[in-house]
Amino acid sequence: MHVVPLPALADNYIWLLHDDSGQAIVVDPGEQAPVEAALSERALQLRAILLTHHHNDHIGAAAALRARHGAPVFAPRDERIAEVDRFVDDGDVITLEQPQARFEVIAVPGHTRSHVAYVGAGVLLCGDTLFSLGCGRLFEGTPAQMLASLERLAALPGDTLVCCGHEYAAANGRFARQVDPTNRDLAARCDQVAAARAQGRPSVPVPLASELACNPFLRIDSDALTDWGRRHGAGDDRTTRFAALRAAKDHFQG
Ligand code: ZN
Ligand code: FE
Repeated sequence: MHVVPLPALADNYIWLLHDDSGQAIVVDPGEQAPVEAALSERALQLRAILLTHHHNDHIGAAAALRARHGAPVFAPRDERIAEVDRFVDDGDVITLEQPQARFEVIAVPGHTRSHVAYVGAGVLLCGDTLFSLGCGRLFEGTPAQMLASLERLAALPGDTLVCCGHEYAAANGRFARQVDPTNRDLAARCDQVAAARAQGRPSVPVPLASELACNPFLRIDSDALTDWGRRHGAGDDRTTRFAALRAAKDHFQG
């Protein structure tokens, strides 16, 4: 399967997955034009539309693409998402014939209450839950929910390619280096991100193993983050530490 990030809106990625025979899936189409351009350039047929959560920058073009291409929409059950053909929930499996693919659905509440991630074809489509070097803001969930969601994603195979919803790696990296300053893997990843961005290339997809080594929100139990928590009054409780880390990122001006 080919895995292609399509830049959209200000800093979103719509994920395009397609096989060699031109059968395609899009994930989180917040905008129609980049999808139509990629489909026609690559001579692809759109066969399915997967949505991770209800925010408009992820679903804005789903209904128009569904109408134009007749592709079914898969989405979590949420009254804020219209025109869904199949509702998905934690533990569901989506089996597609064209392109041939199988995705497991993982409920990942935190950013929003009905957010899901899709895992299959070697990739993790995680919307605004896990970003490279960061995680989503807590709009509708608790820190405990988000931490549990991230831990389910962190348990996937290390070679899984993380396909997230936004290009936030550079800004996330500046925060990450402040809270985990001696992490050499993180320094190297920040250099890699800077080089990609300087050439106008996306920083993602990135293997999950890299995120496990570099992303502070996946390293909440590391010595570096445990120290950070103590110095920032979060004590030794890991959920409190995670909450403090997320709050610090919310206020970070980097
Ligand atoms: Zn969102
Ligand atoms: Fe978003």
